[in-house]
Amino acid sequence: MVTRLQLMNTPPPAASLPLTPNTLTLPKERTYFSLVLIFSILVWLLLAVSIIGLIYAAVFAAVFWLANGLMVARLRSEAVKVDERQMPELHALLREVCGRLGVAPVPALYVVQAGGTLNAFAARHAGRGFVVVFSDFLEALGPGSPELKFVLGHEIGHIKSKHILKQILLAPGLFLPLLGPAYRRSWESSCDRYGAYAAGDTDSAVRAMLTLGGGRERGRQLNAEVFASQHREERGFFVSLHELISTYPTLSKRVTDLLALKSAMPARRPARNPLAYFLAMFVPGGNTAAPANALIFIVIIGLLAAMAIPAFQKVHQSSIAMVCRNNLRQLSAASDQYVLETGHQPNEITELVGPDKYIKTMLVCPRGGTYELSPAEGQDAPRIVCTVHGSMEDLQQQFEKSRQK
Ligand SMILES: [Zn+2]
Ligand SMILES: [Zn+2]
Repeated sequence: MVTRLQLMNTPPPAASLPLTPNTLTLPKERTYFSLVLIFSILVWLLLAVSIIGLIYAAVFAAVFWLANGLMVARLRSEAVKVDERQMPELHALLREVCGRLGVAPVPALYVVQAGGTLNAFAARHAGRGFVVVFSDFLEALGPGSPELKFVLGHEIGHIKSKHILKQILLAPGLFLPLLGPAYRRSWESSCDRYGAYAAGDTDSAVRAMLTLGGGRERGRQLNAEVFASQHREERGFFVSLHELISTYPTLSKRVTDLLALKSAMPARRPARNPLAYFLAMFVPGGNTAAPANALIFIVIIGLLAAMAIPAFQKVHQSSIAMVCRNNLRQLSAASDQYVLETGHQPNEITELVGPDKYIKTMLVCPRGGTYELSPAEGQDAPRIVCTVHGSMEDLQQQFEKSRQK
């Protein structure tokens, strides 16, 4: 209870910070959201109308649920859960950040040892969000530091914005080249603002970023302006392409944005190489290595194949039948001509085909059928039939049936 009272006495955010709770999410994130949502709804509808799509979606959901459940189970049993008794200083910081960002109940926080990696992430399972901080990042920043407030604020921003849920529901749209990665980058840019707002100043946010870039020893002593200038100066084709297919804004850009927030001047958007936009159109979903994305990729490819193969087979089938029908038409025209010229019916199909006859060489059915004369009852001319496809009337019926399907 003591900590709660202290929380309520937290001083208001630095007046210099041009942020309010309503302006933390960037307008471009909302724009991208609408576009990605429209595309995703279309794809989900398409999946819903094709039964095979529903099966794939169910398989994907089951695999995702299992993999995610296992990941969460590992955290619950191997990572350190932070609460009033365990790392109380860090827990107080989390509650302060949640209070500031208006997130209740306070999500679970885990500290995990990850072999020196400096990182943190937000995840979700069974309808609840939680935050994971890697132990080396925690040590590099300090458990009660404003830098860590920034990091927690960033992750709580993901939870408040329901980004993890959106990652699943909007998976089809996130898979789009250019738009998908741009939308994800806007998540990170928005969440950096949540972090800065939670920390109450941009200096600690910048220091946390520099620690990510330059490591725990040298990171916080780096010259932020000089590091940010890398974003302005490195504008070549490959840097542009890297930016366009990345699901994170580059570190130098994030520092640039945070510095712009500090000076309350909008950051200048340096141009990208136009050719990079062209190439990026061929990289679906960006270069994220997350296993969930690889899964989505596999499912979508499988789905496209499942939808394309029957359609292709149908077209292939009917084009074969079309060739056979043309052959039958030619043969029956030859037969009519034979009757006109000789005054009697042909007895053998060979009477119609030959170097000096109506058809020079024997026509071939693509299915391997051969053409024969079949005596027709009640008709004056024999019917010509394919041993595989039957008569022209049979083929006609087949076409009509496939059109009705
Ligand atoms: Zn993030
Ligand atoms: Zn045939």
